[in-house]
Parts: sequence; C-alpha cells; structure tokens
Amino acid sequence: MLLEGKTAVISGAASPRGIGLATARLFARHGARVAILDIDGSGAREAAASLGPQHVGIGCNVTDLDDCRRAADEAITAFGQVDILLNNAGVTQPVKTMEIDGASWRRIVDVNLTGVLYLSQAFIPHMRSRGRGSIACMSSVSAQRGGGIFGGPHYSAAKAGVLGLAKAMARELGPDGIRVNCVTPGLIQTDITGGKLTDEMRRDILKGIPLNRLGDAEDVAGAYLFLASDLSAYVTGAVIDVNGGMLIH
Ligand code: NAD
Repeated sequence: MLLEGKTAVISGAASPRGIGLATARLFARHGARVAILDIDGSGAREAAASLGPQHVGIGCNVTDLDDCRRAADEAITAFGQVDILLNNAGVTQPVKTMEIDGASWRRIVDVNLTGVLYLSQAFIPHMRSRGRGSIACMSSVSAQRGGGIFGGPHYSAAKAGVLGLAKAMARELGPDGIRVNCVTPGLIQTDITGGKLTDEMRRDILKGIPLNRLGDAEDVAGAYLFLASDLSAYVTGAVIDVNGGMLIH
C-alpha cells in the first residue's frame, strides 16, 4: 500500500479504457482516495462510483481556469487535503502541418498544455500552504521524437510544452516541498487510439518496440504511482519514458 491515507486528483479519468481511470483504480488499491475530474461530468461521477463510495467524480474543463478553481475547491472540501495531482487530460488529432487551422491549434494546445497550467494553478496554493505535494504531468513520446503515431504537429508541440512547463514548475516549487514530474508514454491502447490501428500499422509499429508489444493503460499507471508515492521523494523535474523502448536515447 503505497498511498495509504493520501488523496489524489486525476484529470481526464472518466474514459473507461483510459490511462486516467486505470491509474485511479491502481491508486485506490494502494489506499488513496481519488477525485476523478473530467469534462464529462456524469462519466466522472460514474467512474468514481465504480471505485467505491470514498471517491468523488467532478465535472471540470481544464481549459477554463475558473472551472479548475471550482473543481479544486470541491476536491479539497471533499477530502480535506490533496496530496497528489495528475494532469492527465488530453486530446489528439491526426493531421499534417498544413491542415492545422487556428481553431484546431488552439483546441489541442488549450487542453494538452494550458490545461496543465490552469489545473496546477488551482492546486498550488493549497499544496504550498501544506508545504508538500506531488504533481505529475502527461506528455508523450510524440514530444520527444516529433510525432507519435496519431498526434499531429500541434499535439507534439503541446506535449513538448508540457515538458518545459513541468520542469520550470519543478524548479520554482521545489522549495515549497512540491515535486513536479512528467511521463512520456509511447503507443498505449486506449480510446484515443482505439479503432484507428490497422493490423498492418500494428506490425510496423511493433518492429520499432524492443519489448515487442503495445502499451496498456496499466503500464502508465505504474509510472504515475511511482511519481505520486514517497518512493520518488527525491525525484523532481524528471521525465519517465513508458514506451517499451520505442525511443531509447
Ligand atoms: P482517453 O481519450 O481515454 O482519455 C482522455 C480523457 O481526457 C477523456 O476522459 C476526456 O473526456 C478527457 N478530456 C478531454 N478534454 C478535456 C478537458 N478539456 N477537460 C477535462 N478532461 C478532458 O485517452 P488516454 O489515452 O487515456 O489519454 C490520457 C492522456 O495520455 C492524454 O493526455 C493523452 O494525450 C496522453 N497520451 C496517450 C497516449 C496513448 O497512446 N494512448 C500516448 C501518450 C500520451
């Protein structure tokens, strides 16, 4: 039990096959109470209920700072304290550079990058007042290798922005006892990729993955658990690859 007595907030955790909900399940098994935040409010409440009565689901659009502050107040009131924040919400769009219009650019950057800033801003005062906290942010292999499989250049740019933002926050917030880290998954089988992968694509992709399988949501949940728990008490500003060796550098 690595999170006994701790409380965690996970954004983008309503999706049934998603990384966020798999992480919420793992955290609950390790003794944490979890607040599931998602733009799909009823999905968030259903997901929380599926974990047990001590967990809460809260509707929250991470691109709206006021909404993030309201959701943070709700989570802090429900639990009395929040120890862990996972900035996990994200959206992708498989387009090429010349196909990116202003609205698509803003949507991808808003959810994947601005959302990390806003939700962090909503919890930092609380964490500062307690002199402790762990924030983990979702980036992607797409940030490191200039595109994954399903993300366009705007997605790569936003996820690369997450790495810079998280490292800068780690530097700034370390003296307040707040750690900030990132995970960079490769291709993980969730609804974000679901249905878009042909057998031929799968064979091609596997040639570049030394562990010879695609990732599962639970693979990323394990990395989040390490970053959330005291096992990583001296780790901040780090980036943890969860990609089966797709990018060894
Ligand atoms: P998913 O689609 O199952 O989950 C994304 C969740 O984010 C959904 O529940 C969705 O409702 C929520 N969301 C979308 N916009 C939101 C907003 N504005 N505010 C709050 N919630 C919002 O996909 P997933 O694969 O579990 O993705 C989780 C994270 O992992 C994303 O940030 C994604 O970019 C990242 N990621 C995924 C992969 C992969 O291969 N699946 C690889 C690298 C990174």
